[in-house]
Amino acid sequence: MKRRQFLRAGLMSAAGAAALLSGGGLGALARPLENDPDMARREAAEGVVVNDVHGQISRTRVAYIRTPSDTAALEKALEPGGGVALSGGRHAMGGQQFAAGRPLIDMRAMDKVIRIDRAARTVTAEAGITWPALIAALNRDAPELSIIQKQTGADDLTLGGALSANIHGRGLVMAPIIGDVESFTLRTASDGVVTCSRSENSELFALAIGGYGLFGVIQTVTLRLMPRRKLRREVQMLRIDALMPMVEQRIAEGCWYGDFQYKTDPTAEDFMRTGVFCCYRPVEDHAILSETARNLSLEDWQSLYDLAHDDKKTAFEKYSAYYLASHGNVYWSDSHQTSTYLKDQNVKYDTERKNTAKSSLVISEIYAEREKLTEVMEACRAAALRRGMNIVYGTVRFIEQDTESFLPWARKKYACIIFNLHVRHTVPGLAKAQEDFRTLFDIALDHGGSFYLTYHRWARKEQVLSAYPQMHEFLALKRKYDPYDKFVSDWYAHYREMFPI
Ligand SMILES: Cc1cc2nc3c(=O)[nH]c(=O)nc-3n(C[C@H](O)[C@H](O)[C@H](O)COP(=O)(O)OP(=O)(O)OC[C@H]3O[C@@H](n4cnc5c(N)ncnc54)[C@H](O)[C@@H]3O)c2cc1C
Repeated sequence: MKRRQFLRAGLMSAAGAAALLSGGGLGALARPLENDPDMARREAAEGVVVNDVHGQISRTRVAYIRTPSDTAALEKALEPGGGVALSGGRHAMGGQQFAAGRPLIDMRAMDKVIRIDRAARTVTAEAGITWPALIAALNRDAPELSIIQKQTGADDLTLGGALSANIHGRGLVMAPIIGDVESFTLRTASDGVVTCSRSENSELFALAIGGYGLFGVIQTVTLRLMPRRKLRREVQMLRIDALMPMVEQRIAEGCWYGDFQYKTDPTAEDFMRTGVFCCYRPVEDHAILSETARNLSLEDWQSLYDLAHDDKKTAFEKYSAYYLASHGNVYWSDSHQTSTYLKDQNVKYDTERKNTAKSSLVISEIYAEREKLTEVMEACRAAALRRGMNIVYGTVRFIEQDTESFLPWARKKYACIIFNLHVRHTVPGLAKAQEDFRTLFDIALDHGGSFYLTYHRWARKEQVLSAYPQMHEFLALKRKYDPYDKFVSDWYAHYREMFPI
C-alpha cells in the first residue's frame, strides 16, 4: 500500500503512524510496539527500539547498540560489515541518528577532554562529550575561557551532534558552529582516521560539519573558545517591526547574545507581533552574579509548560513578567546558554489530562531575510491562524552567513524563526503537523529564506531543492567518500530515495 493511501485509510496505530512518517520503516509497523509484555525477549532476538528525545517521532528498531568508550572499542564496533548509524544526544528528529535494522553506535561514552590550550584558546575533546561536561571541565581547568555558542533549550547534546547539524546558539553576530571549529578527527569509511581543518582535508571539513553523520565518525573536536565574561541581561517588550532596528542598536552597543520570544496566544491582536527581547551585554569583572537569584524553579517551568498549552495568554503574561523581572541580572557567558530541559513533560501532560493519544512538541526553524522579518512573521501569523497551529513556544534569533560548510542552512545573514508545535501522534495529527511545517517552509522560501534540516524530514522535494540546491552533489560526495554505505541513517535513506543518483 502506498504511503498516502495508508494515511488516508486511517488504519494505523499512533505508534505506527509515527514510525511511518519518521522513517521507522514498514517493518516497525508489523505489530504494535507499545505495552509489549515480552519486549526484553524480543529486543534480544530482534533489536532495540530507540527514539529521539524531544519530538519522539523517530521510533526505530535498530539491530543493537554499542557504546564504545575508546578508539579501540570504536574500531571494533565498526568491524562487522554493513552500515551503522551514529548517535549523540538523540535530539535530532529526522532519523539522522538511527537506521532501522542496523547497529547503532552511541558515542556518548567517548567524552573525555583531551587538551585545553589556554594560549591558543582552544579545547580538544572527544565528540561524545555533552555541553555540561565540557563547560564544567573548562570552568575547572581554564576558568578564564568559555565556549562561544551552544544550542539553547537543551543541554545534553554532544559536540559530534552539534557539528553534524552545524548548530547555532543565540549569538547576535555569530555564524553557525563551523566558525568555532579549528579542526576535528574523522574516522572515515576507507581512509582510517584523518584530521580535517580548513587546510587539511578541507572538503571533508566542509562536508562533515552539517553532514549528519554520513562521512564518518567524528572522534575528537578542537573547538575555539573565547574569554569567559560576565554579561548583563537586558529585557524589553517589543513589537516585531521594532526588533531588527533594536538588534542593530544592541550590536552597535556591544551586546553579544540575544533573542526574541514571541507571543503565542492566537486570540491576541498582537499574536506573533509582540515579544520579549533579551540581550546580553559584557560588564565589568566585579559585577555581582545573579546565577541563582530570581530564577524559575523546575515546578515553575513545568507549570509554564502546561500553561503554554492550555492558557497561552496567562503563560505569556507569566513568562514575560519573569523575564522583565530578570532585567539587570548578571550571568557568565557560558552558563547563560544553558537551560532547564523538561524531559518527558509531554508524557506527564498527556497522562494528567487522560489523553488517549500521545503528543509532543516538534520543532522547526525557518529563515527570513532580515529586512523581510516583519513580512514573514505576518505571513506565518496568518497561516498559523488559518491552519489552527498550536504554537507552544517560539523564538526569533539571528545568524551570520555560513560561507564554509558544503550544505549550509545559513546561506545569508538571516533572522531565524523557531516554532515548537504541539503535535498529536495520531494519523491526522501527524499529517497536520507535516502540512503545517510545509506551509511555513513555503512562506520562508517565497520570501528568499530557507529552513533547517535537523528537525524531521517532512519537507517536499521541491522545498528541499530550493533551500539546498546542492543536495544532489552532497549525496554524490557521500558516495565518493563512503561508496559502500558504512555510515547510514533513515534520514539518508529518505534523501537517497528522494534524489536517486
Ligand atoms: C529541545 C531542542 C533544542 C534545540 N536547540 C537547538 C538550537 O538552539 N540550535 C540548533 O542549531 N539546534 C538545536 N536543536 C537541534 C540539535 O542541535 C541537533 O539536532 C543536534 O544535531 C543534536 O545533537 P545530538 O548530540 O542530540 O545528536 P543526535 O541527535 O544523536 O545526532 C544528530 C546527528 O549527529 C550525528 N552524530 C552524532 N555524533 C556523531 C559523531 N561523533 N560523529 C559523526 N556524527 C555524529 C548523528 O549521526 C546525527 O546525524 C535542538 C533540538 C532540540 C530537541
